[in-house]
Amino acid sequence: MVLVGLIITGQVFGDEAKWFDVKGTQTYARIKTGIDAVPAISTHEHLRPLHMMTNRIETPQGEGVGLYTVLLNSYLQTGLHRITPWPPGRCFDAWWLEAQHDFADAQASSVYRYLLPAFRDIYGVNFETITFEQARNLHHRIFRNYQDDAWLKTTITVRANIELLVNDPSWSPLQFDTQSPSYKFVARVFNVTKLMQASHPSRAHFGGTSDDIYVWARERGIKVETIDDYLELIDRCFEEAVDAGVVGMKSAHAWCRSIRYDRTTKEAAARAFGKPPQDVASEQIKAFEDYIFWHLCRMSVKYDLPFQIHTGHAHIDGSHPMNLVNVIKANPDTKFILFHGGFPWVSEVGAIAVCFENVWIDSCWLPILSYSMAKRAFREWLEIVPSDRIMWGGDEFDAEGIYGGAAVTRQCVAEVLAEMVLEQALREEDAHRIGRQIMRENALKMFPNLSDKLWRGVALPKK
Ligand SMILES: [Zn+2]
Repeated sequence: MVLVGLIITGQVFGDEAKWFDVKGTQTYARIKTGIDAVPAISTHEHLRPLHMMTNRIETPQGEGVGLYTVLLNSYLQTGLHRITPWPPGRCFDAWWLEAQHDFADAQASSVYRYLLPAFRDIYGVNFETITFEQARNLHHRIFRNYQDDAWLKTTITVRANIELLVNDPSWSPLQFDTQSPSYKFVARVFNVTKLMQASHPSRAHFGGTSDDIYVWARERGIKVETIDDYLELIDRCFEEAVDAGVVGMKSAHAWCRSIRYDRTTKEAAARAFGKPPQDVASEQIKAFEDYIFWHLCRMSVKYDLPFQIHTGHAHIDGSHPMNLVNVIKANPDTKFILFHGGFPWVSEVGAIAVCFENVWIDSCWLPILSYSMAKRAFREWLEIVPSDRIMWGGDEFDAEGIYGGAAVTRQCVAEVLAEMVLEQALREEDAHRIGRQIMRENALKMFPNLSDKLWRGVALPKK
């Protein structure tokens, strides 16, 4: 009854009376159109060269990328939704017979729903009502699209309207000139996670990456016998990284352990260095990693590379963003970027950012994990931190994922801004400007080297 009343009132009085359905308002439509037109800058993706793309499959047509790949590369499995394995060497029909039933319990989840715009906009398919025939067709179209990278480039730069993305080649962090695709729309960060882990050569592979820092050192004729040698080696890595044009640095250490880094001494760190992990106490390994993390905060200042740090959802008992406050406080010249909005601790991330001038918030991945949490987060952050402190990214692995991540983020930001305008908590002209800041301008401000990589030469729309 109340709902009917509101709808009738809405029809009579226009947008302001029916703000509860913000996407139906003209205010939303104008803001969304403006945000869609922004040539976006994603601050975080994991785009691999085509031949290295994860979850490629064997098919009767040869090896390549299919619907299975796109689903596996998405965050469905992170959201605990199982995808039927691709039967080796088998055809699509055999797989889909079973896999079509994989989505029943995912219908309401953001990790599923962010893929829908990609299937809808790129392929004209409603995945929620997909037929067997449509699914087979979709699979074959995906397979054809990935035969070379022309389609991928167009999808990201034209359809998703992304001018630049900051890539994290986490699978091969020390190959600065290769392993990250050299597309004109790709910049990259230096993933420093394994620098914290490699207290001994046996730990140099820890974390699932292929590079070994000790092999890297040997190739360059660098001896690594003491912790001082190791610190010099880190410096050498940074020199090469900066020469290769990296724009920032990134830690994904939250996937390995707690992100509480105590201040410790070089002597304490040296106790674990060079020793097989089974010969040292776990506290000594922690001391080594803590020391290197603090050292990396100093490297961030020395090489003028903002420090992106994974917070939230990972090792959930140690990934709370508040764990970083001691380091943030003691390193005021390091620019800390707290990733994923600290999911689920989005309010805490906002509180940290308002307390420390050296903290920025990156919402990457957040709207994909929980759309409504992202909405709440954008609103809260805009209320408490300056609007030039919030960035976005997809944290995705292929064109469909990057498209879906961008689509839900644009929608989420537009919804939040339109609601604020309709509540008279923000003027519409400022909403348009804030949309441009989040989707693009804040990243350019954060990573000064990115401006050199802009390639479109198109002025931003004024509104
Ligand atoms: Zn990531």
